[in-house]
Amino acid sequence: MPVLVMKFGGTSVANLDRIKRAAKRVGVEVAKGYDVIVIVSAMSGKTNELVGWVNETSPLYDAREYDAIVSSGENVTAGLMALTLQEMEIPARSWQGWQVPVKTTSAHSAARIEEIPDENIREKFANGDRVAVVAGFQGVSPEGRITTLGRGGSDTTAVAFAAAFDAERCDIYTDVDGVYTTDPRITDKARKLDKIAFEEMLELASLGAKVLQTRSVELAMRYKVKLRVLSSFEEQSDTAGTLVCAEEEIMESNVVSGIAYSRDEAKMTLVSVADRPGIAAAIFGPLSDAGVNVDMIIQNIAEDGRTDMTFSCPTDQVKRAEKAMEDAKTAGEINYHDLIADTDVAKISAVGIGMRSQSGVAAKMFKTLSDEGVNIKVIATSEIKISVLVDRKYMELAVQALHDAFELDKA
Ligand code: ASP
Ligand code: MG
Repeated sequence: MPVLVMKFGGTSVANLDRIKRAAKRVGVEVAKGYDVIVIVSAMSGKTNELVGWVNETSPLYDAREYDAIVSSGENVTAGLMALTLQEMEIPARSWQGWQVPVKTTSAHSAARIEEIPDENIREKFANGDRVAVVAGFQGVSPEGRITTLGRGGSDTTAVAFAAAFDAERCDIYTDVDGVYTTDPRITDKARKLDKIAFEEMLELASLGAKVLQTRSVELAMRYKVKLRVLSSFEEQSDTAGTLVCAEEEIMESNVVSGIAYSRDEAKMTLVSVADRPGIAAAIFGPLSDAGVNVDMIIQNIAEDGRTDMTFSCPTDQVKRAEKAMEDAKTAGEINYHDLIADTDVAKISAVGIGMRSQSGVAAKMFKTLSDEGVNIKVIATSEIKISVLVDRKYMELAVQALHDAFELDKA
């Protein structure tokens, strides 16, 4: 029988009523003839509570115990979902990560899935089980300890199961009804997309559209897993939500598919560094070693052998970046006059695979922002994305103006 993966996020299993509602949806797919693998998150708020307990007990916690604790929320919802299905006369069994087993690396709290052997669950399907309810977010290390995949990781669990079982589709049930052209809280003109390409979704996911964990999209792209994002609160239908799929499956699309933003971006400028071969390596090497995720980079024109280097990174990494630079300076690896952190900026990005074949997108974006009197501080581009840093107070305005300019409210 064909396999379908259905993942329910925290709000979709937030209480017993919602679990019942989710179970009914599973029942509909079982009735169609699918063997269903259900991946569950913890009840909404639960993981935060567990993380809070860990931090309160031991600020410099042992990461193995962190995983033992924060993975437990999913165990509860997996068991409850299996029981609810059994009450509906649907043969179902719950599975914790180690029972499958979901084999991961030993990087506690940020483990990667290495392998999901399918024999155990397949055997249960062959013997009459119709649903395997798997606790998302967790796995087991080569040392036999419980691991977790990083916050939001049950999306990645779901896609990994869809790949391992060659599932027909991976449905991600959440509290929004799909992927939008931009955040509907910023403009009511935001429109739900019927389809979006993996690469676009990847850009949008990593740019702060929080519907899917970025790694789950990477995995779906690599294994060509058809991914659907849909709401567990609306009517069920085969075409609901947004399908995240290969580019070839999208006949025609707008040049720009979406406008993303990120509030948590900081602009860092190293004033007056020596303009010499190796200077970029001497700056960005230590930043990378310190775990700073540098996004945009600009190097100014040099004057008298000195130049300014500007980069952006998430706001919560500013302290780490400053320390890495001070240490490199003390060690004599780099020399700079000053390090200025501007944490009052936001990043706005236009994303679309159509940019590959159409020119003028950047020009239009800059013109639009200039018409609104918004100053651009940093620009970065890739094949399918143009990002700018602007003062945070202009963030909403910039998103709205760009959404209008690229006519994203029209299909
Ligand atoms: N419960 C975990 C978290 O909140 C994993 C997930 O829901 O995806 O991060
Ligand atoms: Mg999530």
